[in-house]
Amino acid sequence: MADTFMLSSLRQIVQEVNTASSLQQALDLIVHRVRRAMGTEVCSVYMYDATSTDYVFAATEGLNADMVGKVSLHASEGLIGYVVSREEPLNLDEAEKHPSFKFFEGIGEESFSSFLGAPIIHQRKVLGVLTVQQREKRRFDESEEAFLVTISAQLAGVIAHAEATGDLGSLTSSKPATPQRSARFFGVPGAPGVAIGETMVMSSPADLNSVPDRPASDIDQELDYFWRSLDRVRADIHELDAALANQLRPEERALFDVYLQMLNDNAFGGEISDRIRQGSWAQGAVRSVILEHVQTFERMEDSYLRERAADVRDLGRRVLEYLQQANTERPVYPQKTVLIGEELTASMLGEVPTGQLVGLVSVRGSSNSHVAIMARALGIPTVMGAVDLPFQRLEHSQIIVDGYNGTAILNPDEELSAQYQAIITEEEQLSRQLETLRDLPSETTDGHRVPLFVNTGLVSDVARSLDRGAEGVGLYRTEVPFLLRDRFPSEEEQRLIYREQLEAFAPLPVTMRTLDIGGDKALPYFPIEEENPFLGWRGLRVTLDHPEIFLAQVRAMLKASQGLDNLRIMLPMVTHLSEIDEAQSLITRSYTELLDEGYRISRAPVGVMIEVPAAVYQARTFARKVDFLSVGSNDLTQYLLAVDRNNARVAPLYHSYHPAVLQALEQVADAANIEGKMLTICGELAGEPGAALLLMAMGYDALSMNAANIPKVKQTLRCVSRDQADEMLQRVMQLEDAEMVHGYMQAKLDKLGISQYLSPGALVSMDN
Ligand code: PEP
Ligand code: MG
Repeated sequence: MADTFMLSSLRQIVQEVNTASSLQQALDLIVHRVRRAMGTEVCSVYMYDATSTDYVFAATEGLNADMVGKVSLHASEGLIGYVVSREEPLNLDEAEKHPSFKFFEGIGEESFSSFLGAPIIHQRKVLGVLTVQQREKRRFDESEEAFLVTISAQLAGVIAHAEATGDLGSLTSSKPATPQRSARFFGVPGAPGVAIGETMVMSSPADLNSVPDRPASDIDQELDYFWRSLDRVRADIHELDAALANQLRPEERALFDVYLQMLNDNAFGGEISDRIRQGSWAQGAVRSVILEHVQTFERMEDSYLRERAADVRDLGRRVLEYLQQANTERPVYPQKTVLIGEELTASMLGEVPTGQLVGLVSVRGSSNSHVAIMARALGIPTVMGAVDLPFQRLEHSQIIVDGYNGTAILNPDEELSAQYQAIITEEEQLSRQLETLRDLPSETTDGHRVPLFVNTGLVSDVARSLDRGAEGVGLYRTEVPFLLRDRFPSEEEQRLIYREQLEAFAPLPVTMRTLDIGGDKALPYFPIEEENPFLGWRGLRVTLDHPEIFLAQVRAMLKASQGLDNLRIMLPMVTHLSEIDEAQSLITRSYTELLDEGYRISRAPVGVMIEVPAAVYQARTFARKVDFLSVGSNDLTQYLLAVDRNNARVAPLYHSYHPAVLQALEQVADAANIEGKMLTICGELAGEPGAALLLMAMGYDALSMNAANIPKVKQTLRCVSRDQADEMLQRVMQLEDAEMVHGYMQAKLDKLGISQYLSPGALVSMDN
């Protein structure tokens, strides 16, 4: 097979299978298209069935289709079993001579001699086997084998998705139906806890994929929105056309006519209004019609026509944007709302009225995404990276969010709901028990004090933190108020926000971090487009390049601290010594300017975050330049282990108990100790009871965490002596991998009787 032919067939097959509305349809399409692309006489798929643990003959073209679903074999049986157990392709010219060959009555294989089978592997599990067969005795050549292996690898994800969504139906179906089938979706834990509630879909602006199915509450009104949006898009296209009249040739401008025709009543315009008349809200109708056409274009053989898919999508996006502007009605959120969506963001949390948000499930992101960090701060159970969740079709469904295991259960049966309800009740009891800790000191049994600070960002964090006995703020994420606006806040606006924080905690210290944007934190009004944002323009790098932003922020912080003197300033993402020098000189400049302007303030202590490996190695040098160090273990873990903190696919590799991370943490502690500088940690690790013990033993002076974690960390510290913690640290530092460390600490906490506070959810086993 020619390589280019192969590539284009591959792409088309994957795209087509992606649009299938059920698993069976996907499998039928696969056998049909692969057989045609490879020119073989037979193509079949065998799929793993979890109930029988057998591989079932699931689809075929060329063999006896009547036997589909009726023949199955054990994982060790026949050539299929051989492919499964070896997890490798098998290429035979005379299949019947292979020692593993097994004859199955009725399939009709007897006349086919040559056999090529490739395992379909998703996330290390063999989901099935894809085979092609020929009468002629010949080995398939290398390029055929490579094709089958490649297509199996690519289809594995699509098949897994189709399996997970089961018979929920096509995602682009026009019927705004809510499936009642119970289904379980797997992701990663985002914020601990369990919630039972009703789903609401959050969509991103002008993003067709994220629009949910919703019935129209007033069909005439929806039609009216739609027609008005169409008129505005038409006007925009005329305007564009006129603006480019001198620069484009008439045949190039003809594209605009095509656009306008597509919007007509006898084209998309008509189709979309029909869907609205059938009962869909306008945005859902636009999404389904446009995406159906996009898929049709993408499947075309002709490359010119294939490119038109982008035009159709663009047109749809334009109409959607106007529709979203026109429809300003605020949705009515259920009393117990679980937000679901493609990519939930921190700012979406503010949309739900206070007290009604009980859970979150996001298709993208991981436990270290900022929305998950916020959810933990707010104590909202969250599942991240639930990649198979067909969220568009699930509005107003009953759902259980299991933030301990990272699973979401749709339409649960009564028994399961009751089981989860019992956990919620148990958690409430535990947290009432822990409330009694509020006024007790955070110290070990032999009196070693470890102040517990809190990480804040939202205004609501303040009350929660004080309620839980925080002894100061170890990290105030100043980007949060920046994220919740549509422009940079002015110096005075910032001063008021910062003053509120400083006053709420005074005389306790408040550590304010200078603006930390970039990476996964984009301000809507200051977009940063980069190939590799986590290695790009982030944190201090941005603000040093924009001294006006840095200076306004530092001036606002310093002014806000007048008369309170509890401000500490912290710099994120420091990699080079020169960055500290530059930042210090800007801080000094702001300070002296303010003194000249008559403010009576003191120069706040300045610290740096240790978030990148370079800073670990230079911790002593950095320490000499500043008043304190604070480890940002979320980023430090991601950079040390080269694991994107937002990527659910590699989430199991993101582990702050990795010996390399622990050694780095200890090295920083030694550096701060030698230089006599205060050392804190403000990454999520500090809020894990086991880790808190290790960090204390390493010599961390204070631990800063989400308010929700303070009681259990305090409870843990109050159960051990400093010597016991030192012993645990010594032992842990000899262990060779993260799992061993985790197992060791878990056993220790069990022995101390504190594991019950860590995860009541562990009571629910995954195979419910
Ligand atoms: C960290 O990286 O550990 C940290 C506290 O900062 P953020 O999570 O805001 O990046
Ligand atoms: Mg960070």
